[in-house]
Amino acid sequence: MIFDTHAHYDDSAFDSDRDLLLSLLPEQGVCGVLNAGTNILSSKKSIELSKKYPYVYSAVGIHPECVSVSDTNLEILKDLSKDKKVIAVGEIGLDYHYSQENKNLQIDFFEKQILIANELSLPILVHDREAHMDTLNLLKNYQPKGVVHCFSGSLEMAEEILKLGMFIGVGGVVTFKNAKKLVQVVKEVPLESILLETDAPYMAPVPNRGKRCDSSYIKFTAQKIAEIKNKSYEEVLLQTKSNALKLFRLEESL
Ligand SMILES: [Zn+2]
Repeated sequence: MIFDTHAHYDDSAFDSDRDLLLSLLPEQGVCGVLNAGTNILSSKKSIELSKKYPYVYSAVGIHPECVSVSDTNLEILKDLSKDKKVIAVGEIGLDYHYSQENKNLQIDFFEKQILIANELSLPILVHDREAHMDTLNLLKNYQPKGVVHCFSGSLEMAEEILKLGMFIGVGGVVTFKNAKKLVQVVKEVPLESILLETDAPYMAPVPNRGKRCDSSYIKFTAQKIAEIKNKSYEEVLLQTKSNALKLFRLEESL
C-alpha cells in the first residue's frame, strides 16, 4: 500500500546493499517508489534502477545545489525525460539555505526545468528550502503540475499550492518534536492533497530519526498523519497512494 513519492536509492548510502534492500521492499508493503535524480549522473542511475524493478519509477532533474553555469546538461535532461519509466522532472527548485550568491542561476535552472516538464506534460518534484516566496512566484507563473516535496512553508503557502492544483509532500519531519508548523499544515490540508515520501536515505522518522531511511519507514509517517487527522492508518495509506497514482498518471499500470 505504500507509495514513496521521493527517495534517492542511487545515493552512495545504499552502495553496500541497494539491490537486496530494493528487492525486499514489496514484502514490507511498498508498492511504488519514485526515485528522484539530483544531477545528470544520478538521473541516469535513477533510470537504471527503474528498469531493474517494476515498482521503481524515475524522476530526472538537476537539484538547486547541483546547478552549473553551462546549459548543456538541460539538453541531456530533456532527452532522459523521454524514457517511459520517467514520470516526473525532479528534484528541482531553490535552496537558499547554503547559498544565496547563485540565486539567479538557481532560478534560471528551475524555470528552464519547469518549462521542460510543461512541454513534456510531466509533473515536477519541487525542492524549496528557505526560498518560499521565489518558489511560489515561479509556480504561479508557470502553473506546472507536481508536488512541493518535504513541505516546510506556512499554512498560507500550503493553501496557495493547493489553489495551483499541486500536492504537499510530507515525510519524516512530521514526526519530529519541533514540527509544529508542519503538523498544523497536515491538520488543515485535505488528505486528497498530501503525498507520502521519505527522502531516503535522509529524514528518517521517529523512532528511527538519524538512521538511514528507506521506504518501509513511511509507516511511521503515515501513523503520525493518521493521528493528526483523526483517520485510520489504512485510510491514510490508501488515499495518499491514490493521490500519487493520479498525479503521476499510473492508474492503469499499478
Ligand atoms: Zn530529495
